[in-house]
Amino acid sequence: MALDARADPYPVVFHEFTHLFIEANLAAGPLWFAEGLAEYYSSFNVSDDGKHANVGRVVARHVLLLRNRWVPLDAVLSAGHGVRARLLTSVVPPRRPG
Ligand SMILES: [Zn+2]
Repeated sequence: MALDARADPYPVVFHEFTHLFIEANLAAGPLWFAEGLAEYYSSFNVSDDGKHANVGRVVARHVLLLRNRWVPLDAVLSAGHGVRARLLTSVVPPRRPG
């Protein structure tokens, strides 16, 4: 995973921490579950007043990606941990309403 030194590091930290938590506490599961949960928790943040924690926010880069590319559902559900690169390159354009 490439990091931009100017970017907020916390989404990556929470994403990777979620992977560690999953690996330490749950039986091995499908890639879509591990990555989905890790991305869900990557959006964790605390409000400026420190009174509220937020999680599950929309990730802007996901919205931008999904506007231009879709991965077939069967490819997502059948992906294993060794096929990330193939999964990311086997995308199809999203269907546009007709
Ligand atoms: Zn991940």
